[in-house]
Parts: sequence; C-alpha cells; structure tokens
Amino acid sequence: MVSNVPHTAISAEVPNQPPRFENINLFTSDRVLCDAIACEGAVIETAQLQEFGGFIGSAEMWHMAAAIHRHIPELHAFDRYGRRIDQVEYHPAYHAVMQRALEAGIAATPWRGDARGHTLHAALEYLLAKVEPSTCCPVTMTYAAPAALKHAPEIAGEWLPRIVAAKYDSCARPAARKAGVTVGMAMTEKQGGSDLRTNMTRAQATADGPYTLNGHKWFCSAPMSDAFLTLAQAPGGLTCFLVQRFRRNGEHNGIEVVRLKDKLGDRANASAEIEYHDAQGEQIGEEGRGLSTLLEMVHHTRLDCTVAPAAYMQSALAQALWHTQHRTAFGKKLADHALMRQVLADLAIEAEAATLLAFRLARSFDEMSTNEQAQLFSRVATPVAKYWLNKRVVGQVAECMECHGGAGYVEEWPIARLYRQAPLNGIWEGSGNIICLDVLRAFARHAGASDVLLAELNLARGVHTGFDQALSEVHETLRRPDEANARRLTERIALLLEASLMLRHAPNADADLFCAARLGDDVGLTYGAISGSADTGAIIARATPAV
Ligand SMILES: Cc1cc2nc3c(=O)[nH]c(=O)nc-3n(C[C@H](O)[C@H](O)[C@H](O)COP(=O)(O)OP(=O)(O)OC[C@H]3O[C@@H](n4cnc5c(N)ncnc54)[C@H](O)[C@@H]3O)c2cc1C
Repeated sequence: MVSNVPHTAISAEVPNQPPRFENINLFTSDRVLCDAIACEGAVIETAQLQEFGGFIGSAEMWHMAAAIHRHIPELHAFDRYGRRIDQVEYHPAYHAVMQRALEAGIAATPWRGDARGHTLHAALEYLLAKVEPSTCCPVTMTYAAPAALKHAPEIAGEWLPRIVAAKYDSCARPAARKAGVTVGMAMTEKQGGSDLRTNMTRAQATADGPYTLNGHKWFCSAPMSDAFLTLAQAPGGLTCFLVQRFRRNGEHNGIEVVRLKDKLGDRANASAEIEYHDAQGEQIGEEGRGLSTLLEMVHHTRLDCTVAPAAYMQSALAQALWHTQHRTAFGKKLADHALMRQVLADLAIEAEAATLLAFRLARSFDEMSTNEQAQLFSRVATPVAKYWLNKRVVGQVAECMECHGGAGYVEEWPIARLYRQAPLNGIWEGSGNIICLDVLRAFARHAGASDVLLAELNLARGVHTGFDQALSEVHETLRRPDEANARRLTERIALLLEASLMLRHAPNADADLFCAARLGDDVGLTYGAISGSADTGAIIARATPAV
C-alpha cells in the first residue's frame, strides 16, 4: 500500500528526541566540579573558569570537536620538490581549540607563581576533557615540561617565559621567534615503553655544545611541538635532552616523522613514529639521570591522567542524564523508571568520587613545593588515582552510552568519541601494572608515605562503620606490600581515598551509597546493581546539570 503521508512531513516531525545538549556552561552547571574545587580550599578566580566553561559547552565547541575527529591530522613528510618538511596538517578547528585552551592559561597558570595554579590548571583541563580530550595531550605535556626543564636553569630561563606567555603559535619556525610554544615528550621505543632502560637512541657529545642524537621513537604525540623532552643513551647512561624542532639557525633539526599512528580514539591528536638523524639535543639534568629527570615531568602528566577520566565520567553522565530526562519510554521519562534511577545514581557517585579525588590530588601539587606531607601524599596518591580512575572510567562511559540506547553507539553522538578515548589514559604515562608497581615503590622509598596516607584517611574515621572497618583492614595490607598484591593494594587505597572524600565533602545520600556499594556488603559487579534503598532522587538531582 502506498502511504499518503508526504515524505517531508515524516522527516520534519521528530518526536521524543531530546533537545541538543549545547550552549550549557559546563563549569557553572556542574555542581560536583564547583564543590570539588571549593572543598579543596582553592581560592581561585572562577571568572576564568566560568568563561572557559561557557566556551567549552557552546554549540561552536561541540561542532569543532566533532569536526576534528572526522578530519584527522595528515602527514606531509615532503614538499612537492621532494624536500623533507615533516609537517602535520590539522583541521583549522584544532588550532582554534588549542588557542583557546592555551590562552585560558591551561599550561601556564602553575608556573606564574599562583598558589593555586595547579588546581586552576586541573579545572581548565577537566573542562576541556569534557568535550575535546584529544587536545589535552599537547596541552598536558606543555604544562608538565617545566618540571623537567628546571634541571637546566639556563634552558628553563629561555623556555619558561614562552610557556607562561599562554599563547598558541602554530607556525613552523624556531621557538625563539614564536609568541608561545608547545612541548612534547619522546621516550617510548619499539623494544620497550615501560622498560625505558632499553632505549637505544644514542646521544654523542660534540665539541661545540649540543649533543647529537640518532635513533627512533615509536610513539611521539603532538609531533608539531616546538621541542621534545627526549630520553637517549649518552656515554654516562640514560639522559634527558631537549630536542628542538628547528635549530637555532632555522634549519630542520633532523627529526623525521615516519608515519602517524592510526589510533582507536584520540584521533584529533597526531601521534607519530619519528627518527632522529643527527638531531641536536641540549642536556637536561645530569648525564645518566635521565629517567629521574623525566619522571618529574611524568608525575605532572599523571595528574592530568587522573583529571581526564574524572572529566569523561562527569561529561558522559551529564549526557546520559540529559538523554534519559528528555526521552520517554513505556509512558514515562527514561530517568523516572526505577531501574534506570539505580543505574544513574550509581554512575553519579562514581563520577563524583573521581572528581573529588582528582581535585584533592591537584591541591597536593599546589602544596608540594613548600610542604613535605603534601609531597608525600602526591607521590603516593598520583599513581593510585591514575590507576584506579582509568580502570573505572571505561565501564562508566560504556554504561552512560547504553543509557542513550542505539543513538549512543552512533558517531554523531559525542558519547561515542568519549568511549573510544576512555581507555587511553590507562595506557600512556605508565600502564596499569607499571603504575601499581610504582605505588609499591613509593611506599618502599619514602618512609613517611604510609603515615601521610593514613593521616589523610583518618580524617574521615568515625562517621561510617563500613568505612572504619575497611580502613582497619588496609592497615594490614599496607604491611605486606608484595608485587603480586600490588593491584589489590592500589584498588583498596583508591576506594578508601574516594570514600573518605565522599564522607567529608559529599551529601550524605551520595557518601552512604558510595560506602555501601564500593566498600560494604552491597557491592554489585555492574552499575545499577545497588540496593533499592538508596536515595537516588537526591543523588540524581545533584548530578543533573544546573541549567
Ligand atoms: C596514543 C598514544 C600516544 C602516546 N604518546 C606517547 C608520547 O608522546 N611519548 C612517549 O614517549 N610515549 C607515548 N606513548 C607510549 C606509551 O607511553 C607506552 O605505550 C606505554 O608506556 C606502554 O609501553 P609499551 O607500549 O612499550 O608496552 P609494554 O612496555 O610492552 O607493556 C605491555 C603491558 O605489559 C605490562 N608490563 C610491562 N612491564 C611489566 C612488569 N614488570 N610487570 C607486569 N606487567 C608489566 C604493562 O603494564 C602493559 O600492560 C603513547 C601511547 C599511545 C597509545
């Protein structure tokens, strides 16, 4: 039978679909983020965050994020005459996002002497990661670079002002002639990323100054950075070098981009395989101490590897709430069905605990230069949080996707991008096992680390019996930190840290559900498998974007 409904009328009518999740300020609408910053005592200028949150949530930003994942970076190794140029071409929107992020001070704030600079950095990073996480990679490496550069004061004196300038300049020319710079890191080689001692790239001293580097790097993200902190074998052992993209005289510095990786996600960010052919590198830190020099930078990139998964969770949750609160099935909104409420509340406490942990960690970065306890806390809690939040985010984002039904699995919906991004922070900057071994190392090398951790956890003692019991059990585990137990120990510490922060800073309904569902007898193996007695209404109301 031929229908008499005109074709156009069917397409024009779109019943039961939510309005677009756009033009919502992703800072001011996020109660959990605002509270997490405030409860960490951060006296920071929120006007900057309000402005950035408005931009990040704008229709323009969502559109740019989609465009740069569809039109991915392209390598031009040679010009049309056959000369090497090693340039990566990005969609114009990539440059626009980079510019906004860097000009907001995302990489600069901690190095300007602001007492809460790392927290402000973390908040800006969190906002960026909600919508366009690929650009977080170059931004994070630039933010973290001064932690390694400080080991070469003269070079730091040249480069720090370029980072603090908070400018984005994508031109291919020597750093000295640019308004602002970005910095990458090149450690991983084919034969080993976790075991960096196996690095084969060689560095030879020259009579007149810089070293000459020859070798390869198997992963080098953001290959258009102005310089790369690089690990190479010098005569005295593994050493850190700053290898600039261009020599001071403007010549190509022998960094050849072999190809770009075809990645699962993170597609707007180029990740390259590179080779050094007599590239000039300037020594950073002592010869033979390259790993410990570079690990100071990595400590900072790992902060962002905890901020990002917290942001993904909160962003995925906001999208899931928006969808389920606007779409109807079986006579009522999806979000009003009892079983969906269990799922949403469980997803909400996961994102809230992750956010509290990320900002507690950021505070320790602000305090660690003047406070030894903060330094120890940051040393232990960074790998703990890096491990745990990246384990939790993958399942959390997948469940948020499922709240969208079939739409969530479609590329036009931002949740699909977030899902492909979700596993990445668990792999780079130290994969899961390596990070758990680092937790053991932190306890082994720093005598006061377990006392500082226990002092932090004890702040929440006495308000919840389940928490108190789990806390006494972890004392026992801390006494036996053996390798086979490392994941278990890290997981328990992470859960206790999250629970302690929830008990101290979240509403009772959220904290009680977290303790019951993550520490107590009510632990389910999937999101939503929680007790029916939780106050899901209050939890969901708090998590819902305040628009
Ligand atoms: C998209 C992307 C971008 C990247 N960008 C950069 C970059 O810009 N610069 C850079 O230097 N690197 C970069 N990397 C590389 C990344 O840091 C490494 O892939 C990572 O550190 C793991 O190293 P690997 O790949 O050699 O794995 P391997 O070292 O082979 O490890 C494989 C697995 O074995 C586990 N493992 C290793 N040793 C042990 C052990 N002793 N006990 C138990 N388990 C162990 C690891 O946890 C991991 O799960 C990037 C990676 C990705 C995916």
